[in-house]
Amino acid sequence: MSAAADSPRVAGVVGAPVGHSLSPLIHRTWAERARLPFHYVPIEVDGGEPGFARAIEGLRMAGFKGVNVTLPFKEEALRLADGASEAARAIGAANMLTFNKDDIHADNSDALGFCEGVKSSLPDTARRALVLGAGGSARAILYALLSLIGIDDVVIVNRTASRANALAAEFAGAKSAAWDSRETAAGEADVIVNTTSIGMARDGVAGGETPLTLEHVRPLTVVCDIVYAPLKTPLLRNAKAKGLPAVDGLEMLMRQAAPGFRAWSGGQAVVDADLRAACEAALNARRAS
Ligand code: NDP
Repeated sequence: MSAAADSPRVAGVVGAPVGHSLSPLIHRTWAERARLPFHYVPIEVDGGEPGFARAIEGLRMAGFKGVNVTLPFKEEALRLADGASEAARAIGAANMLTFNKDDIHADNSDALGFCEGVKSSLPDTARRALVLGAGGSARAILYALLSLIGIDDVVIVNRTASRANALAAEFAGAKSAAWDSRETAAGEADVIVNTTSIGMARDGVAGGETPLTLEHVRPLTVVCDIVYAPLKTPLLRNAKAKGLPAVDGLEMLMRQAAPGFRAWSGGQAVVDADLRAACEAALNARRAS
């Protein structure tokens, strides 16, 4: 093997803030398993979009293989790339930038991460989905449901109706309904996905709210919450109490990291119980501190 092939590869996650990100832990776990000389660092950027663009150029010049991008720069990441995957273009945001010799390529692995995390729980007969929320992550979930999983009927409900209407107009197969109709809509869904921040812990205080009571839900409806802090959100506790299949936000989070690790380190990225345990321990430690 040549010296160049042996030299450490470096990637990272860029955002503001990034201190909470579990991505460094996930990438480090995979790098240690594969004994690869791969380093993955959190990079907090200030200075808004110009600051982000300068940081990306600097990281590229410094020899980084690529970066994950998190809030609030996912849309800007897509804009500054030279080319983009179909997923990133359809979602309108990128969480992955790969630095090639002559260009920057944008991708979005959030949708794939969600799809991979939910597919073993989802029966082939699933046809109808309910999506709660119309923020940034809802776009990736809509793409996953409609284009990757093949659900053909998605209802979006959101507190601010105009945002649900706008998303429904953009994604074929999606329609919007009133936020107040969500309990009834849940009764007609095969899969429910919470993409709102309801239930999320804030400033270390566990979120006590649930966006749904699930009182009308049918027995085999799959309930997903992409919120991962806390891991057992009130919605998922509710689903478990009713004996419904439930998928938490960590399943998506771990799997969205895999395409970046494969692309930038050249190694294998396996999501398993040990990785999950490491992430859970980090989340628990954060809650306790
Ligand atoms: P956004 O800020 O873009 O959207 C927030 C959404 O929550 C909006 O639809 C907003 O409605 C709704 N909302 C917030 N508060 C309330 C409330 N009190 N009542 C009703 N609706 C409310 O956030 P994101 O989409 O980026 O993220 C949402 C959640 O998803 C976060 O908890 C984030 O951590 C998680 N996430 C998880 C990922 C994973 O890999 N598991 C990946 C990405 C995000 P309105 O439009 O009316 O304001």
